[in-house]
Amino acid sequence: MKQSQLVTKTRREAPKDEVSKNAQLLVRAGYVHKEMAGVYSYLPLGRLVLEKIEGIVREEMNRIGGQEVRMATLHPSEPWKQTGAWDNVDVVFKIQSRTEKEYTVGQSEEEIVTPIAKEYIESYKDLPVAIYQIGQKYRDELRAKSGIMRGREFTMKDMYSFHETQEDFDRFYQLAKEAYLRVYERAGLVAKATEASGGAFTTKLSYEFMVLTDAGEDDILYCDQCSYCANVEITDEQEGQSCTRCGAGTLSRAKASEVGNIFDLGTKYAKDFNFTFKNKEGGEQHPIMGCFGIGITRLMGVIVEALSDEKGIVWPESVAPFHVHIVEIPSESADVHAEAGELYRELTEAGVEVLWDDRDVRAGEKFADSDLMGIPLRIVVSEKTLTAGKFECVERESGHTSHKSISELIGHLTA
Ligand code: ATP
Ligand code: MG
Repeated sequence: MKQSQLVTKTRREAPKDEVSKNAQLLVRAGYVHKEMAGVYSYLPLGRLVLEKIEGIVREEMNRIGGQEVRMATLHPSEPWKQTGAWDNVDVVFKIQSRTEKEYTVGQSEEEIVTPIAKEYIESYKDLPVAIYQIGQKYRDELRAKSGIMRGREFTMKDMYSFHETQEDFDRFYQLAKEAYLRVYERAGLVAKATEASGGAFTTKLSYEFMVLTDAGEDDILYCDQCSYCANVEITDEQEGQSCTRCGAGTLSRAKASEVGNIFDLGTKYAKDFNFTFKNKEGGEQHPIMGCFGIGITRLMGVIVEALSDEKGIVWPESVAPFHVHIVEIPSESADVHAEAGELYRELTEAGVEVLWDDRDVRAGEKFADSDLMGIPLRIVVSEKTLTAGKFECVERESGHTSHKSISELIGHLTA
């Protein structure tokens, strides 16, 4: 894409009301637009990043047998009253229609997915099943000062699984845990799985997936030797104690952000909706249910918080809106523009995603914008390029510079 045609422009100053680093950088670089506290629109660059993150999540959920759906977002109030969430869950928005009917908007979707599953699951032969979606969620959050990391509207991947036995649930739970760790790793992050108590309706164990960042709203204790990690809210352990898991390490305390979690819901929702299936012995039985969430927009915010530097955003290649940023240095010579255009055409034809800064703007401004936007590889096209026959290539993350011809670049980028 040509940058001259991009709807958005960068801005030098962060908006005064944004206190979080992720929102400051994302607004300045033109990825998001704030509508009100906790509600953002995702602009062309931001939408591209979300699509990349969603693609990774979708691949990993499909790999463990998840079936993607798109459930309704506007919900009748009745199933929410049936499970008790209408009165007990404080973040539920309550919408009054002019017909006096009450509705809510999805803050989670057990109330919608359980009746759907009940409709089709009749026998143990229909189990297990895992249904997921990637979509908008709405929560009446009291505080929304963490930019896109805590929204009143946000994007979540939510998966719900149904099982015949506890053993089968445990098997799937383990698969999902491994899939989650792959998602975070592919998105350029190191996540730790905590052991924590379950949600509002269950005393069963759950995992929270935590990424260390000062912007996080959770406090965790983690072992400096093994993968043990616990939320400070629930554990009796203290900082400085030796690790009970491995015995070798010491527990450190840090701020972290919860980028996903998985819960064993037991038979709570199956009972609420009178959902049973015919078991092997011919009797009726409630399925065991699990729910598995990943905060897609929160993950994007955490990537910005964890990987950015003083110049701007640093996207890992896997989620970057483009792989390459061609920065054409304006010149009297029409050849520079022609050379940049040729490079753009060849890279695009080779399947490389390219943003071409073809604007008539000073070089310094272009470099500052490029650093702010965070595309992994910058290729500079200037008069010098024409004489040298090679392009200057600068890696955003390391600042490492090299010089490559077009064919070397294509070889390198499509390897
Ligand atoms: P938190 O403790 O941060 O409020 P939660 O326990 O309410 O999270 P879940 O209801 O399990 O979270 O939602 C699943 C995932 O969705 C969370 O792990 C988190 O990554 C993300 N998430 C939850 N609330 C928000 C929000 N308000 N804005 C953005 N992402 C969110
Ligand atoms: Mg919450």
